[in-house]
This record gives sequence, C-alpha cells and structure tokens, in this order.
Amino acid sequence: MRKPCIAANWKMNKTAAETGAFLNEFVPLVKNVKDVDIVVAPPFTSLYAAAAIVSNTNVGLAAQNIFYEEKGAYTGEIAPSMLTAAGCSYVIIGHSERRQYFKESDETLNKKTKIARKHNLQVIFCIGESLEERESGRMFDVLKREIEEGLKEVEAAGIIVAYEPIWAIGTGKTATTEQAQEAHRYIRERLAALYGPAQADEIRILYGGSVTPDNIDALMKCADVDGALVGGASLKADSFSKIVIFNR
Ligand code: PEP
Repeated sequence: MRKPCIAANWKMNKTAAETGAFLNEFVPLVKNVKDVDIVVAPPFTSLYAAAAIVSNTNVGLAAQNIFYEEKGAYTGEIAPSMLTAAGCSYVIIGHSERRQYFKESDETLNKKTKIARKHNLQVIFCIGESLEERESGRMFDVLKREIEEGLKEVEAAGIIVAYEPIWAIGTGKTATTEQAQEAHRYIRERLAALYGPAQADEIRILYGGSVTPDNIDALMKCADVDGALVGGASLKADSFSKIVIFNR
C-alpha cells in the first residue's frame, strides 16, 4: 500500500520571512494529517527558517536542487551535506524548468540522483513530455528515456517519481484523469522493467501540473496516482492545506 505524498514546489518564491509566515499558518492546518507525507520545497535561502518550524512536525523539507559533487570549487552550487545539515530529507531533481532553462541532461540528473541517495535524501525525480512531444506521438519514448537514463544504476528505495507534463505546468491546463492515469500506468510499467514488479509497486508516482483544491480529489482517485507535486497552488497555506486534506 503506497502512502500518498503531496509536495509543494515553491520555485523562486518566498523570502525566509515569508516562508516562516506561510509555515506558521500551514503547519497547524495539517497537523492531524497522518496518512499523507507532506513536503515543502522552499528556496535554499529559506531552508533553515523552514526547518526551525517544521522539525518535529508531520511536514518534511525538500530542496529544489542539489549538486552532484561532495564539495569544492563549484561557485554557486549547493552540496548534499549542506542540504541534510539544513534539515532536508527530500530533494526535487529534474524539474522541467531545470531541464529546459538550465540544460540539465539525463546524465547530470542521474549523477545528482546518485549523490542524493548516497546522502539518504528521498528523491522526487521529475519527468514529463512537452506538448510537441505528446502531439507527435513521442510521449512514451520521452518518459522511457527519462526513467532509464535518470535512474540508471539507482536502487528503487528512496525514489519518488513525479510525472509533470510540461504543457500542464503553470498553465492552468491539468491533464485529464485519463491522461494522468495512462502516463502513470506506463511509468509504473517502465519502473517494473527496471526494478521488477514488486518494487515498482512500492514506488510513489506523483502528478504535477496545475493541481488545485478543485482537481485533487479526481486525480487522487486514479489507481496509479500516489500524490501531487504542486507549484502555484502551494504558495498559499489555505489552498495547499486543502490539497493535502483531499477527499479520501
Ligand atoms: C511544478 O512546477 O512542479 C508545478 C506542477 O507547477 P504548477 O502546479 O503551478 O503547475
């Protein structure tokens, strides 16, 4: 039985003070939720402020990125040990904005995933096709490549996959439940090819792309949707708490 996971990806939003204000409102709203792993991913500069509030609560902390070396001359990068020291137990890797704007390749993302797991961080590994890839019939090939290359030589434990169709991110255009389930089913088949069916059955696959309090219930009813990665609707405590407290 897979425990749902609902994660907030704040992207480049919220100062440390704004993070504190959000969490002071949000944590009490979800304090009784026991059956969902709740995660927030603030910017790096807010991690310590966030950890001071969420440690010893049911809210976990994620970083939005990681570097693939332990330390050294990599100006501007953040090492895995810095994230664990700041209180992170999760990291988002391979978000489409990292792939698109920062040209992160499958190989880079594989290195990041490996070092994150070495430091015992749970990895929210993002994959997803563009509209052009979907419309030209290449969606399944893209998902297959992103899984096989990104998770090459990585064990199943500690991996959470987030399916985020790029055309649905920040656009207000959610995948239909049929589209989400079709992609999630396929992803689980690919994971089964990689890890065997028993381990693939344990891996949580989150849906991301314009998730709101209005569409979470229907998405969570899909057999292979095990949670959500939420951008825009996670920036307000009220709306993110409604997503976390979806209709079971
Ligand atoms: C995201 O960036 O991970 C995301 C899903 O954003 P939004 O919910 O705003 O579409």
